[in-house]
Amino acid sequence: MGRKECKACGRFFEVEENDKDRLFCDACKDEEEENFKAVREYLFHNRGASAWDVAKHTGVSLRAIDRFLKEGRVEFITKE
Ligand SMILES: [Zn+2]
Repeated sequence: MGRKECKACGRFFEVEENDKDRLFCDACKDEEEENFKAVREYLFHNRGASAWDVAKHTGVSLRAIDRFLKEGRVEFITKE
């Protein structure tokens, strides 16, 4: 068991040995997944949308979208 810093809220949370790759605390995990689905869905229908467009239409923060990009979970966003 160890402690990790949540990538979304920055709070520390406990992780089990078999769950070491976890990036988010319990509070953020579900929200992060919902955000990711919303972003992916929007991009699917709006190819080439900018991160700003995505944030405006999905309500997901630019910070979260930026994180998805850095993690390589979403692609083909044209940077403005
Ligand atoms: Zn968190």
